[in-house]
Amino acid sequence: MALYQEQSLKFYNSMSGEKEIFTPINEGNVGMYVCGPTVYSNVHLGNCRTFISFDLVFRYLKHLGYKVRYVRNITDAGHLENDADSGEDRIAKKARLEQIEPMEVVQKYTVDFHNILQKFNNLPPSIEPTATGHIVEQIEIIKKILEKGFAYEANGSVYFDVIKFNKEHSYGKLSGRAIEDMIANTRELAAQSDKRNPQDFALWKKAEPQHIMRWPSPWSDGFPGWHLECTVMSTKYLGEEFDIHGGGMDLKFPHHECEIAQGEAASGKSPVNYWMHANMLTLNGKKMAKSTGNFILPEQIFTGENDVLTKAFSPNVVRFFILQAHYRSILDFSSDALLGSEKGFNRLMDAFHSIDDLEASQNTDFDIQGWKQTCYDAMNDDFNSPILIAKLFDAVKAINNIKEGSTSISESDKAELKKTMSAFMFDILGLVDSVSEANGDGEKLTGTIELLIRLRAEARNNKNFALSDQIRDQLQEMGIQLKDGKEGTSFSLN
Ligand code: AMP
Ligand code: ZN
Repeated sequence: MALYQEQSLKFYNSMSGEKEIFTPINEGNVGMYVCGPTVYSNVHLGNCRTFISFDLVFRYLKHLGYKVRYVRNITDAGHLENDADSGEDRIAKKARLEQIEPMEVVQKYTVDFHNILQKFNNLPPSIEPTATGHIVEQIEIIKKILEKGFAYEANGSVYFDVIKFNKEHSYGKLSGRAIEDMIANTRELAAQSDKRNPQDFALWKKAEPQHIMRWPSPWSDGFPGWHLECTVMSTKYLGEEFDIHGGGMDLKFPHHECEIAQGEAASGKSPVNYWMHANMLTLNGKKMAKSTGNFILPEQIFTGENDVLTKAFSPNVVRFFILQAHYRSILDFSSDALLGSEKGFNRLMDAFHSIDDLEASQNTDFDIQGWKQTCYDAMNDDFNSPILIAKLFDAVKAINNIKEGSTSISESDKAELKKTMSAFMFDILGLVDSVSEANGDGEKLTGTIELLIRLRAEARNNKNFALSDQIRDQLQEMGIQLKDGKEGTSFSLN
């Protein structure tokens, strides 16, 4: 029996506003689409939070035994500076400023995106399609929407007719906005616009002469609208109806609302069964965003080269910090919060690595099976990683009690405890067991650190405290912690 048949997974569907039991369209299989980055700049930590949130979802679904097809796109065309239909293409603008080809911009920041997510130990998606690789499909779907009468052509551009669509379907149901309010709240249509109504959005835009990213189409040399690429790439690889669509909360409107409208207009079917939205990472209480300059780059955290933090933190600790908050809660980034996470992370890792050395007894007076189920219950309840982490700390407490002799554990339960903690910490939360990784690298690293520990001890004996502190601090910056104890100095990695 697959694990998903034993565990009842529920999660919050932004469409219904309720936690719902998850039932995929095809038993045992899950199709999941997540909006990927627009690759015109380095990803900031806010972007990473959203991708780590969905990595948790991907990992847990896989752990439950589902065969998951996870599609996450790369937006390499069509995303204009202004999220509505105006402004320069973000990638073309960067190319102009840096005097390089748009595809060089795309390549540079796609590589950066992959590097950073790999550092955070995110699993790669099953398919990572690009918008420019699907222009033909985008043109085809525009033709379909035109045929169904939900779009119109004007001066070489094609717009989605929101008012007409809303007469037969419902526009605004995901974000809970009524079309009447949208109409009342939008200012007059700009005089130069070809749109019939301000709510309409572009499916295809005719390129101005200076617009370099352009493709031929039946309507004009131009480029596709930003919302359309996600409709095309999700339905191409997952079908006209699929299980899960995710993205950051800020994409709910208009991006996801437009995706629903396009999908329904083209196929008559509602494309997504479960909508998931990850909440924002804030800095100084304000949304982290490229456009406002209120952001921090992951590399600035790993190296400590920034004004926000008092020291460097490893990707592992940053990932742990992110997962200590529920994905639907706002999370504020701060130096103190990261310091707290680092302490907790080290405590968790140390306890995990001490399991092997625990003295085994005849029997166990710690309810391992009961505790294990509480870990599953946390994840089954809307992927609640902070509760799961609290449960892992219950195990840390038990391990410490066993060390003190106030609790006992049998040899077989020791193995079960280790296996369960490992599954939740490494497979599901995606933390990295740096100690066993270092061992895997061979004894070289351990040998080098031990050498430095000996040199530091020598420096101390010679009262050269400046040097001994320098060794400790620089190792710390690299994520290597030295701990002085009764039996000498030990180290831990994170
Ligand atoms: P973009 O490259 O701007 O399209 O953003 C890529 C992803 O990052 C989207 O899913 C956004 O919702 C998400 N995102 C942007 N800013 C933040 C933030 N401050 N916190 C969490 N997610 C964010
Ligand atoms: Zn999207």
